[in-house]
Amino acid sequence: MAEQPVMLIVDDVETNRVILSQFFQEEYAIRMAANGQEAWEIVCQESVQIVLADLVMPVMDGYALLAMMKKDERTASIPVIVMTGHSDSDSEVRAMEMGAADFITKPYNPTVVRYRVRNVMARLENEWRKLEQAASDRQLMQVNRSVERDQLTDLYNRESFYRHAARLMQEHMEEQYDIIYLDVSCFKVVNDLFRMETGNIVLKTAGYYFKAVAGGTGIVGRLEADHFAICLPADQLDMDQFIAGLDGAVQSLGISHNILFYAGVYPVEDQFLPVDQMCDRARMALERVRGSYIRRYSYYDKSMREQMLEEQMLVRDMEFGLQDHQFRIFLQPVYNLHTGHVVSAEALVRWQHPTSGLVSPGKFIPLFERNGFIVRLDRFVWEEACRNLRRQLDEFGTVVPISANVSRLNFYNEGLLAYMLSLIEKYELEPWMLKLEVTETAYTENPQQLCSAIQEFQAHGFKILMDDFGSGYSSLNMLKNLPVDILKIDMGFVSDIEKDGRASVIMEQVVHMARLLGMEIVVEGVETKPQIDFLDKIGCEQIQGYYFAKPMAEADFAQLLIDDRK
Ligand code: C2E
Ligand code: CA
Ligand code: CA
Repeated sequence: MAEQPVMLIVDDVETNRVILSQFFQEEYAIRMAANGQEAWEIVCQESVQIVLADLVMPVMDGYALLAMMKKDERTASIPVIVMTGHSDSDSEVRAMEMGAADFITKPYNPTVVRYRVRNVMARLENEWRKLEQAASDRQLMQVNRSVERDQLTDLYNRESFYRHAARLMQEHMEEQYDIIYLDVSCFKVVNDLFRMETGNIVLKTAGYYFKAVAGGTGIVGRLEADHFAICLPADQLDMDQFIAGLDGAVQSLGISHNILFYAGVYPVEDQFLPVDQMCDRARMALERVRGSYIRRYSYYDKSMREQMLEEQMLVRDMEFGLQDHQFRIFLQPVYNLHTGHVVSAEALVRWQHPTSGLVSPGKFIPLFERNGFIVRLDRFVWEEACRNLRRQLDEFGTVVPISANVSRLNFYNEGLLAYMLSLIEKYELEPWMLKLEVTETAYTENPQQLCSAIQEFQAHGFKILMDDFGSGYSSLNMLKNLPVDILKIDMGFVSDIEKDGRASVIMEQVVHMARLLGMEIVVEGVETKPQIDFLDKIGCEQIQGYYFAKPMAEADFAQLLIDDRK
């Protein structure tokens, strides 16, 4: 049985004590005292839940007891109901002022007395409940804050950003809002190259800047990792200034790595569109400029939505496509200009989609680089290339080496070299037969990591090509630091060769320098006779391009090799 609460009855007249105790003995454990002094000792020593005290008593009266109890924090919260001899409003008022919970007049009416006591107890309980409620509300608010806010930046997290942004826009229907989605290019690299804290400082600084920009009229959220979103009245923002300010803030941290934020802007047309979809649209706009050196933001337009729908379909179908052998490799031969023979080939992936037909890699490679599927697709392509090399060896006893593209994402993948070696072993090949093409962007993102990975491959006998050389910015500087074996220059980047003298001069110099550094050169994208003549003049021998052959199915390539050997 639950322990009964304790009631202390204080009265110098014994009959009064007995009468009162009879009213309450079922609900309470009764303690009694004949005066204030005795009562004080009891409340100090025992746990008492309620006191009924006569006001007029010898030794120490009810007022004195009340005064002492209210002064002492151990007893201050115990309710005291005072009893007056007859209706004496002065003493009642005085007692109430001193903190009595209520008063009861003699002679006692059992119903009234019980009622008063219950009332006092209920009130008390209610107060407790209110206090507890307030305390738990406070706690809840704190929890809420931490649930609503991102710990690192104190910005809204994803869910709360969506909620608050929706409310903000709906409360200001007359206002035109923008949703801005921001993302650091290759933030992972920052975390890899520097300590975690460095990355955190970047995020905090950016968050701080965004908050300052949003001021009191916009809101900011950190949706995940290095992804931020801002909801802001459109007229409050000049994007050029915004990006410049952001660059300034990040550069002031003095981190020796180019940390670039990219932004996509969705001008909100429909305030009732779910905010996550608004963010998706802004993000689509961002994807248009990601990685670009010149454009750092772009605005959403409708064509992006169609593109997104198409992309969604490709993402939906990719897994099954790989299982279902819908992906194949095409091979594009590389010719030696002087001998006219095929010297190597590049493996280029194709997707024979069941409903969309042949999808070009330009459509799905960037997509798979974003969602990581490229790591598996590349492995598939390398294996197909190895299979082809094996077939060549079996048929001819010799091989034309095949180069395969290695997406930059693979270089962040630990098991890359081990996997390549396992393929070489499985198909009984030699590493030089499979060349690896890496792009310039992989280098600009993370030079050290790429260089050391390349050197490891070279130590095992693989040949490395630098693909799309000349497309980026740091080409010339890169040339001296880069440990690659072969430079692959895309004619497309110097397509004005016939008209523009400068481009041809630069190309000539690059070829000259590369040769001094002991690198081979392949020129791809060669389409015309004048280009061939120019390349011949500056001493480029290895040519890949529509001028000689387009990428072709493996069977066609096999036939080409047979013809080539005649
Ligand atoms: P890339 O590695 O620079 O490949 C060369 C692209 O140029 C190929 O396009 C090829 O068909 C095209 N090309 C060849 N000769 C000419 C020419 O004379 N004129 C013109 N205008 N184009 C020419 P493709 O096959 O559409 O591939 C596009 C890009 O997709 C590739 O560029 C590469 O970055 C990527 N890619 C293709 N296959 C793979 C793969 O298996 N893995 C990875 N990671 N990326 C791949
Ligand atoms: Ca390539
Ligand atoms: Ca290329």
